[in-house]
Amino acid sequence: AAQAADVEEWHPGVCRFCGVGCRVYLGLKKGKPVAIKGIPESATNKGYLCMKGMLFYRIIHHPERLTKPLYRERKDQPFREISWEEALRIAARKFAETVVKYGPDATAYYGSGQALTEETYLFQKIMRGGLGTNNVEGNPRLCMASAVGGYLTSFGADEPIGSYADIEKAYCFFIIGSNMAECHPVIFRRVMNRKFAKPNEVKVINADPRVSPTSRIADLHLQFRPGTDLALLNAMAYVIIEEGLYDQEFIQKYCKFKIGKPPKDVTFEEYKEFLKQYTPERAAEICGGNITPEKIRTAARWFATSKATMSLWTMGINQRSRGVWANNLIHNLHLLTGQLCKPGADSFSLTGQPNACGGVREGGGLCHILPAHRPVKIDKLRHQVEDLWGIPRGTIPPKPGYHTIAMFRAVNQGKIKALWVNCTSPAQSLPNCDFYRKGLAREDLFLVVTDIFPTKTTELANLVLPTAFHFEKTGVYGCTERRSQLTVKVVDPPREAKPEVWIVREWALRMAEEFERLGDRRRAENLRICVKPFLGKEEGYELPKAIWEEYTQKLTKGRDNDLSGATYEVLKQRPDGVQWPAPTKEHALKGGTYKKFVRGIDPLAEEEGRKLGISGPYVFYGPAHKDHKLYLWLRPYKGAAEEPDAEYPFYLSTGRVIDHWHTSSMTGRIPELLRANPYAYVEINPKDAARLGIKPNDMVEIETRRGKIVLPAKVYEGPIQGMVFIYWHDMAEERMANRVTKDAFDPGSKEPEFKICACRIRKVSGP
Ligand code: SF4
Repeated sequence: AAQAADVEEWHPGVCRFCGVGCRVYLGLKKGKPVAIKGIPESATNKGYLCMKGMLFYRIIHHPERLTKPLYRERKDQPFREISWEEALRIAARKFAETVVKYGPDATAYYGSGQALTEETYLFQKIMRGGLGTNNVEGNPRLCMASAVGGYLTSFGADEPIGSYADIEKAYCFFIIGSNMAECHPVIFRRVMNRKFAKPNEVKVINADPRVSPTSRIADLHLQFRPGTDLALLNAMAYVIIEEGLYDQEFIQKYCKFKIGKPPKDVTFEEYKEFLKQYTPERAAEICGGNITPEKIRTAARWFATSKATMSLWTMGINQRSRGVWANNLIHNLHLLTGQLCKPGADSFSLTGQPNACGGVREGGGLCHILPAHRPVKIDKLRHQVEDLWGIPRGTIPPKPGYHTIAMFRAVNQGKIKALWVNCTSPAQSLPNCDFYRKGLAREDLFLVVTDIFPTKTTELANLVLPTAFHFEKTGVYGCTERRSQLTVKVVDPPREAKPEVWIVREWALRMAEEFERLGDRRRAENLRICVKPFLGKEEGYELPKAIWEEYTQKLTKGRDNDLSGATYEVLKQRPDGVQWPAPTKEHALKGGTYKKFVRGIDPLAEEEGRKLGISGPYVFYGPAHKDHKLYLWLRPYKGAAEEPDAEYPFYLSTGRVIDHWHTSSMTGRIPELLRANPYAYVEINPKDAARLGIKPNDMVEIETRRGKIVLPAKVYEGPIQGMVFIYWHDMAEERMANRVTKDAFDPGSKEPEFKICACRIRKVSGP
């Protein structure tokens, strides 16, 4: 906005970075991007932006952008520039030959929550409907898969019930495992505004092993030993029941208690008995840190007795080897107290990326889910998709593909021979990344990367394809609150960069020819059927529009994320997008559904509730659990996969800072952001630093069982004693955090435990 005075024209769109989904105007001068400003009428950000959002226009036409297809036959050769025709033919030939020689599961696609919905949808359609493999994954597996698992097991349906609009109606915020102030800064600002508008009425509880900028507005900071929050959450439930703070009517009407796998019903009495191992006294012992029984009691009382409580969480809960259980235990607190389905009350997971929800979670971008939340293993739903695409039944296999860690292990083992990575950099973002880089470097792996800048992953590629960036192409982003927002192309991409939807369509057409040549008529025909609706469409607007229409009109129709009313025309008329479900144009034009399940606010929900014969103050509808109940789960405390020991005595936790985004391939190229935060450091508690003779800015080696990195020390009362914290954005080889993280993952969600592993530290030199 600094150069806003120069702007000649403003164009509306969405921020390219985090999952908040801020609405922005891009400012042009003489056709060149020169400024960004927030849109004051926006439902998501009300005009606010963080620095990343204000500066992303600098990436458009950045001098280091990839602008020509690059190819090398062998990975020890230099890249050479080639034409698009040659590039598409090479990619088509390598994938088709791999399928014919090794079978479709020797190919894979790895995408991103930063890709547009149309891009993810088309990639997965080609992989599944064309090639016949479910090896379709995306980096949202690394950040929100446990939230999906939590919603599905507790509520029977994915994604939050409520909206950001609940923030202005809440009286208690329970922020756990989230440094919102840096990771979702604009939503945090709304929390702050609410808090400071009603300082005596609104309480903020922050539960985190580290004092972060988020903790600074907390009325109560629960600082526990990493990984012990399952005990803390169970103890809060214990207090709620012991002190009679639960909502008996809500529980009786709408809830069941469940244990184990396969799930078994248990009674409320059995749940109470289970919780006896988590008295506040016992939990305080497990949790350590500053946790006392009285703090646990206070948190439980505030949570249960406020007029409306909203929980907010993200990676600290999700990136864990028991991430799904931790999600369940947060939902339990809402179900026990009835803090749900009323204005201001919600169990609301925050999503990291701008389109992790809309594109990957909803658009079919994970190995086990087809578009519109259809589990691939359910025959009826799989056949529905095949029928809607017009391909023969049996084309899509019933078995889910490789989840992220399994996919890259398969790469290491040589089982995957052709991999397409889009808009993400697994060579840096995977846990234990040195191990997986060995696989990506294999000569028998044909690696295609589509991206806007060189990354750690393009370094290992055979074929690098330059793509259009934000505002250089058209498409939809679906943010954390079920809201789809359209961004329309405003400027041309630099030189030969192309939108992914064009790349995929052209690749698929050429693959059809290759399969024909190789004698696989069935695949050739399926590929042609898959791309037929998109032939002849102009790439800047018509093509993504046709893809969006197919996805929403055919695939989401009648599903819980029904977006069939949200056409491009409607989205253009709705400056702040549409929240699903929005099954009709009229409904979409009103903005869609504020709460999925609340009576009296959304007439559609009310009508659905009536159909299901559910009465009372709340209405649940949609594909929730078949019995229309919400489940409280008995989940015991379990620590991290790798706890500190005598050899590696510290907890190592990783996270983010406000100035950077993921692997910093973009923010690291914006001078203002780089100056604000030029390199990673290790945060150490002063007591630990004193014991080890470490002073501020000393160089410190952080060593785990995976490897070592060296970072300057930041000594302050942030991390709890016995824990160190590093941010993972830095792409310098010697400071890359994921060289030391562990690739253990949650058995249900398969999300890796980036948040906790064991390390040792030592000073290696002075400042
Ligand atoms: Fe962009 Fe997120 Fe910042 Fe909003 S809060 S401007 S979406 S990075």
